[in-house]
Amino acid sequence: MFKKIAMSLLITPLCIFAQDDFDAIEITVNEVSEGIYFLEGSGGNIGLSVGEDGVFIIDDQFAPLTEKIKVAIAEYSSEDVQFVFNTHFHYDHTDGNENFGAAGAIIVSQDNARLRMTQDNFLQVVNVQQNAYNVDGLPKVTFTDSITLHYNGHTLHARHFGRGHTDGDAIVKFEEANVIHTGDVFVRYGLPFIDVPNGGNLNGMIRVMHEIIAMADDRTKIIPGHGELSSRQDMVDYVSMLEIIRDRVYEGIKAGMTLEQITASKPIRGYPVGFLNNESFSKIAYDSFFQ
Ligand SMILES: [Zn+2]
Repeated sequence: MFKKIAMSLLITPLCIFAQDDFDAIEITVNEVSEGIYFLEGSGGNIGLSVGEDGVFIIDDQFAPLTEKIKVAIAEYSSEDVQFVFNTHFHYDHTDGNENFGAAGAIIVSQDNARLRMTQDNFLQVVNVQQNAYNVDGLPKVTFTDSITLHYNGHTLHARHFGRGHTDGDAIVKFEEANVIHTGDVFVRYGLPFIDVPNGGNLNGMIRVMHEIIAMADDRTKIIPGHGELSSRQDMVDYVSMLEIIRDRVYEGIKAGMTLEQITASKPIRGYPVGFLNNESFSKIAYDSFFQ
């Protein structure tokens, strides 16, 4: 049933990648703006647009939740999902692709995200193998830097700003409604997982966050990859935390310290440990300077 093989059991307080007991998961729907919602269940936040053209979703969580997600959407539209936009390749955001694709949805992603979905990838931090999707689960439309969709009265700008959380991230802005879905380049579970072996980079992620901040104003509603609806100020605070930690690591590198010595200096001091701790995040920051 699952295409992932958990190589070992990793207990995390926030379980962003966890394959929960899906029978127990309920899908909750949060209104963001007229006709725009985000859905929470297990995995990444799902953006939802319903309207006269049909149903457009951003990410689709885990395959065993597809029917529950469809039931939740049916409260808002009688149409099937016509478009699925993937913010990046990670399975907690794309595992439903094969189901939605087989049902006729057109999947859209950045080029590199599709490329990774055609391959088997090992996710080092969570020790999980994510295998290639079948043809139904692969994006039929891809783009390099940006793509614009005109749907349900919205101008939807999707943009890729280079390496960040992975090498195939895309953010989506509903221009008129002033709503942005960031995918995992912005999350609310504490220090962010950055998939360095699959093209992610802390310095890149900081740069991408500044691009998003520049696209936002004080009224912008930001749907993060995981966690609660956020504001531009939340992103400003978050990126400043990442910059402080990044700079501490860089000072150590400049002083000729090893990763072990830098880790021992506790670069994350003053910030809470969550999914990532001092050791795992110091390694992400350190490795980001040697790519
Ligand atoms: Zn991710």
